Amino acid sequence: MAEKTTRLNDLPVAEHFRLREFECPCCHCVRLCPLLVELLEAVRAQWGKPVVISSGYRCPSHNRRVKGAARSLHLEGRAADVLVPFNEQPAVEVFARRAGFTQVIPYGRRNFMHLAVA
Ligand SMILES: [Zn+2]
Ligand SMILES: [Zn+2]
Repeated sequence: MAEKTTRLNDLPVAEHFRLREFECPCCHCVRLCPLLVELLEAVRAQWGKPVVISSGYRCPSHNRRVKGAARSLHLEGRAADVLVPFNEQPAVEVFARRAGFTQVIPYGRRNFMHLAVA
């Protein structure tokens, strides 16, 4: 039987993702483009590893705090930063492009990648 929870946003939005993984860390607000989740599932399937999101939706004040771009797709729920070890980024970049992501930015030794759909 599924564990009962009253935790906010703790519900599935796809086979391997829950809504709260995408919420803003400062206010728990969330916006989420269905296509973003679909493409993240496609990356996971090709990579064969869990996709861990370090930043999903950002409210305007959080985006300013982390010095995000003024028109960042994180503000629209169309971007996710994903933890990817430096040495695996070239492969994951191929998976992400193949899945259909239109913004794919590897952050090298910071060990994450920005993936977004316009
Ligand atoms: Zn916030
Ligand atoms: Zn990002």
